[in-house]
Amino acid sequence: VVAVLDIERLHLATLDGVAGRVVPVHGFVVRSSSQAVLVDTGVGGPQEVLDDWRAVNVSVADALAELDMSPADIGLVINTHLHFDHCGQNAVFKHAPFYVQRAELARMKREEAGMWDWHSFMDAQFELLDGDAEIMPGLSVMATPGHTVGHQCVVVNGTDVLIGDAAYTSAVFSSPELGEMIPGQAADLPAWQSSLARVRSLAASRLHFCHDTEVVHQ
Ligand SMILES: [Zn+2]
Repeated sequence: VVAVLDIERLHLATLDGVAGRVVPVHGFVVRSSSQAVLVDTGVGGPQEVLDDWRAVNVSVADALAELDMSPADIGLVINTHLHFDHCGQNAVFKHAPFYVQRAELARMKREEAGMWDWHSFMDAQFELLDGDAEIMPGLSVMATPGHTVGHQCVVVNGTDVLIGDAAYTSAVFSSPELGEMIPGQAADLPAWQSSLARVRSLAASRLHFCHDTEVVHQ
Protein backbone atom coordinates (compact mmCIF):
# COMPACT_ATOMS: atom_id res chain seq x y z
CA VAL A 1 0.00 0.00 0.00
CA VAL A 2 1.38 3.35 -1.00
CA ALA A 3 0.88 6.00 1.69
CA VAL A 4 -1.04 8.89 0.23
CA LEU A 5 -0.45 12.36 1.57
CA ASP A 6 -3.46 14.32 2.67
CA ILE A 7 -3.99 17.90 1.41
CA GLU A 8 -5.94 20.53 3.35
CA ARG A 9 -6.47 24.07 2.10
CA LEU A 10 -6.20 27.02 4.50
CA HIS A 11 -7.90 30.34 3.87
CA LEU A 12 -5.28 32.88 4.96
CA ALA A 13 -6.42 36.24 3.61
CA THR A 14 -8.49 38.18 1.15
CA LEU A 15 -6.76 40.67 -1.14
CA ASP A 16 -8.28 43.40 -3.25
CA GLY A 17 -6.51 43.85 -6.54
CA VAL A 18 -4.85 40.65 -7.75
CA ALA A 19 -5.95 40.08 -11.34
CA GLY A 20 -8.15 43.16 -10.95
CA ARG A 21 -10.51 41.55 -8.44
CA VAL A 22 -10.95 40.41 -4.87
CA VAL A 23 -9.16 37.11 -4.39
CA PRO A 24 -8.50 34.70 -1.55
CA VAL A 25 -5.04 33.74 -0.35
CA HIS A 26 -4.63 30.04 0.36
CA GLY A 27 -1.95 27.98 2.02
CA PHE A 28 -1.93 24.18 2.09
CA VAL A 29 -1.13 21.62 4.73
CA VAL A 30 0.26 18.36 3.32
CA ARG A 31 0.30 15.54 5.84
CA SER A 32 1.54 12.00 6.18
CA SER A 33 0.97 9.99 9.35
CA SER A 34 4.26 11.28 10.74
CA GLN A 35 4.94 14.68 9.17
CA ALA A 36 3.08 17.91 8.37
CA VAL A 37 4.29 20.36 5.76
CA LEU A 38 2.92 23.85 5.17
CA VAL A 39 3.01 25.24 1.65
CA ASP A 40 2.96 29.05 1.83
CA THR A 41 2.27 30.96 5.04
CA GLY A 42 -0.06 33.79 3.99
CA VAL A 43 0.08 37.55 4.19
CA GLY A 44 2.45 39.75 6.15
CA GLY A 45 4.92 42.57 5.70
CA PRO A 46 5.11 46.34 5.92
CA GLN A 47 1.77 48.01 6.72
CA GLU A 48 1.80 50.17 3.58
CA VAL A 49 1.92 47.03 1.44
CA LEU A 50 -1.04 45.55 3.31
CA ASP A 51 -2.99 48.81 3.00
CA ASP A 52 -2.26 48.89 -0.70
CA TRP A 53 -3.88 45.50 -1.20
CA ARG A 54 -6.64 46.15 1.38
CA ALA A 55 -5.63 42.86 2.92
CA VAL A 56 -8.03 41.20 5.30
CA ASN A 57 -5.70 38.89 7.08
CA VAL A 58 -6.20 35.59 8.86
CA SER A 59 -3.66 34.39 11.37
CA VAL A 60 -2.10 31.15 10.15
CA ALA A 61 -2.29 29.83 13.73
CA ASP A 62 -6.09 30.37 13.69
CA ALA A 63 -6.36 28.69 10.29
CA LEU A 64 -4.36 25.69 11.56
CA ALA A 65 -6.53 25.52 14.69
CA GLU A 66 -9.48 24.70 12.43
CA LEU A 67 -7.60 21.51 11.54
CA ASP A 68 -6.86 20.90 15.23
CA MET A 69 -3.24 21.78 14.54
CA SER A 70 -0.85 24.37 15.89
CA PRO A 71 2.24 25.95 14.29
CA ALA A 72 4.42 23.57 16.33
CA ASP A 73 2.92 20.65 14.37
CA ILE A 74 4.42 21.97 11.13
CA GLY A 75 7.80 20.30 10.57
CA LEU A 76 8.79 22.14 7.45
CA VAL A 77 7.58 24.96 5.24
CA ILE A 78 7.75 25.24 1.47
CA ASN A 79 7.42 28.74 0.02
CA THR A 80 6.35 28.64 -3.64
CA HIS A 81 8.05 32.03 -3.82
CA LEU A 82 8.83 34.96 -1.55
CA HIS A 83 6.09 37.49 -2.26
CA PHE A 84 4.41 39.02 0.81
CA ASP A 85 1.25 36.94 0.41
CA HIS A 86 3.14 33.62 0.30
CA CYS A 87 5.81 34.03 2.99
CA GLY A 88 4.19 36.77 5.09
CA GLN A 89 3.76 34.64 8.21
CA ASN A 90 7.01 32.67 7.99
CA ALA A 91 7.99 34.13 11.38
CA VAL A 92 5.31 31.96 13.02
CA PHE A 93 7.42 28.92 12.03
CA LYS A 94 10.84 29.90 13.35
CA HIS A 95 11.38 26.27 14.36
CA ALA A 96 10.98 25.02 10.78
CA PRO A 97 13.24 25.12 7.73
CA PHE A 98 11.89 27.01 4.69
CA TYR A 99 12.42 25.21 1.39
CA VAL A 100 12.87 27.79 -1.36
CA GLN A 101 14.72 28.04 -4.63
CA ARG A 102 18.15 29.60 -4.28
CA ALA A 103 17.31 31.94 -7.18
CA GLU A 104 14.21 33.15 -5.31
CA LEU A 105 16.07 34.02 -2.14
CA ALA A 106 18.59 35.93 -4.25
CA ARG A 107 15.72 37.80 -5.94
CA MET A 108 14.21 38.79 -2.61
CA LYS A 109 17.61 40.01 -1.41
CA ARG A 110 18.00 42.05 -4.60
CA GLU A 111 14.46 43.41 -5.08
CA GLU A 112 12.76 43.40 -1.69
CA ALA A 113 15.10 44.77 0.92
CA GLY A 114 12.33 45.05 3.51
CA MET A 115 11.35 41.38 3.23
CA TRP A 116 14.99 40.32 3.27
CA ASP A 117 15.68 42.34 6.43
CA TRP A 118 12.67 40.82 8.09
CA HIS A 119 13.82 37.26 7.33
CA SER A 120 17.36 38.05 8.49
CA PHE A 121 15.95 39.52 11.68
CA MET A 122 14.01 36.34 12.45
CA ASP A 123 17.14 34.30 11.66
CA ALA A 124 15.20 32.17 9.16
CA GLN A 125 16.68 28.78 8.28
CA PHE A 126 16.43 28.37 4.52
CA GLU A 127 16.98 25.09 2.71
CA LEU A 128 18.03 26.27 -0.72
CA LEU A 129 16.97 24.25 -3.76
CA ASP A 130 18.37 24.36 -7.28
CA GLY A 131 15.55 23.20 -9.54
CA ASP A 132 13.30 20.18 -9.07
CA ALA A 133 13.66 18.28 -5.82
CA GLU A 134 11.97 15.55 -3.81
CA ILE A 135 11.20 16.85 -0.31
CA MET A 136 9.82 13.58 1.07
CA PRO A 137 8.20 10.51 -0.50
CA GLY A 138 5.16 11.70 -2.42
CA LEU A 139 6.08 15.37 -2.13
CA SER A 140 8.29 17.23 -4.56
CA VAL A 141 8.84 20.69 -5.95
CA MET A 142 9.09 21.64 -9.59
CA ALA A 143 10.94 24.78 -10.63
CA THR A 144 8.52 27.00 -12.56
CA PRO A 145 10.29 30.33 -13.15
CA GLY A 146 8.46 33.22 -14.76
CA HIS A 147 6.11 34.73 -12.18
CA THR A 148 9.34 35.24 -10.26
CA VAL A 149 12.75 33.92 -11.20
CA GLY A 150 12.70 31.32 -8.43
CA HIS A 151 9.06 30.29 -8.38
CA GLN A 152 8.29 26.61 -7.66
CA CYS A 153 5.13 24.49 -7.78
CA VAL A 154 4.54 21.62 -5.38
CA VAL A 155 3.50 18.16 -6.60
CA VAL A 156 1.74 15.85 -4.14
CA ASN A 157 1.18 12.11 -4.66
CA GLY A 158 1.91 12.61 -8.37
CA THR A 159 -1.74 13.60 -8.73
CA ASP A 160 -2.10 17.07 -7.24
CA VAL A 161 -0.30 20.30 -8.04
CA LEU A 162 -0.21 23.28 -5.69
CA ILE A 163 0.42 25.78 -8.42
CA GLY A 164 1.40 28.83 -6.36
CA ASP A 165 1.37 31.92 -8.56
CA ALA A 166 2.39 30.08 -11.74
CA ALA A 167 -1.25 30.87 -12.58
CA TYR A 168 -3.21 33.24 -10.34
CA THR A 169 -6.55 31.69 -11.25
CA SER A 170 -8.11 28.80 -13.11
CA ALA A 171 -9.02 31.24 -15.90
CA VAL A 172 -5.37 32.16 -16.38
CA PHE A 173 -4.41 28.50 -16.34
CA SER A 174 -6.85 27.65 -19.12
CA SER A 175 -6.18 30.82 -21.14
CA PRO A 176 -2.56 31.93 -20.67
CA GLU A 177 -3.12 34.90 -23.01
CA LEU A 178 -5.28 36.31 -20.19
CA GLY A 179 -2.30 36.10 -17.84
CA GLU A 180 -0.16 38.14 -20.19
CA MET A 181 -2.50 41.08 -19.59
CA ILE A 182 -2.53 40.84 -15.80
CA PRO A 183 0.13 42.98 -14.16
CA GLY A 184 2.49 40.87 -12.07
CA GLN A 185 1.48 37.48 -13.43
CA ALA A 186 4.64 37.12 -15.51
CA ALA A 187 7.88 38.92 -14.68
CA ASP A 188 9.53 36.98 -17.53
CA LEU A 189 6.94 36.13 -20.18
CA PRO A 190 8.73 33.38 -22.17
CA ALA A 191 9.87 31.65 -18.97
CA TRP A 192 6.36 31.91 -17.55
CA GLN A 193 4.80 30.46 -20.70
CA SER A 194 7.13 27.48 -20.72
CA SER A 195 6.62 26.84 -17.01
CA LEU A 196 2.86 26.81 -17.52
CA ALA A 197 3.29 24.43 -20.45
CA ARG A 198 5.33 22.17 -18.17
CA VAL A 199 2.58 22.12 -15.54
CA ARG A 200 0.08 21.28 -18.28
CA SER A 201 2.20 18.36 -19.45
CA LEU A 202 2.08 16.68 -16.04
CA ALA A 203 -0.11 13.65 -15.60
CA ALA A 204 -1.42 15.29 -12.41
CA SER A 205 -5.16 15.43 -12.28
CA ARG A 206 -5.94 18.27 -9.85
CA LEU A 207 -4.63 21.82 -9.65
CA HIS A 208 -5.03 23.86 -6.48
CA PHE A 209 -4.70 27.64 -6.63
CA CYS A 210 -3.48 30.16 -4.09
CA HIS A 211 -5.79 32.85 -5.40
CA ASP A 212 -8.80 30.91 -6.66
CA THR A 213 -11.15 28.59 -4.79
CA GLU A 214 -11.79 26.51 -7.88
CA VAL A 215 -9.93 23.17 -8.18
CA VAL A 216 -9.17 22.39 -11.82
CA HIS A 217 -9.22 18.80 -13.05
CA GLN A 218 -7.04 18.19 -16.06
ZN1 LIG B 1 3.41 36.17 -6.31
